[in-house]
Amino acid sequence: MTETHATSSDCIFCAIATGTMDADIVKENDRIIAFRDINPQAEMHVLVIPRAHHGDVVQLAKAAPETLAELVTFADEIASELADGQFRFIFNSGPQAGQSVFHVHGHVLGGQRLGWTPA
Ligand code: 5GP
Repeated sequence: MTETHATSSDCIFCAIATGTMDADIVKENDRIIAFRDINPQAEMHVLVIPRAHHGDVVQLAKAAPETLAELVTFADEIASELADGQFRFIFNSGPQAGQSVFHVHGHVLGGQRLGWTPA
């Protein structure tokens, strides 16, 4: 059965999730879609999002914790398929933390040795 999802008309990640905007999709199912970041910060830089619109990771955790858990599983599978299975998984939450798209997305980074420079 195909699920229906809440979408936001002015959200670019909703547009990717519904197929009205192109993306380099690496993995998807009824609930989640993963695609390469348009401005990669590592050899592997994939964004994983729920198809349903939630503004940030806290909103997702409160509304659909099982989907948040599935995002982690997705990230692990993507890291194994595209790299060596090791990865960093980042959710920027709020503009000061660097969030620029307000549809929750986890950054899956890997494929190389990563530094640690959050500032
Ligand atoms: P944030 O800054 O919100 O944590 O991450 C947003 C990410 O989305 C950025 O890494 C940015 O490069 C990526 N991004 C923004 N617009 C697009 C787009 O249209 N397509 C893709 N594939 N990535 C995008």
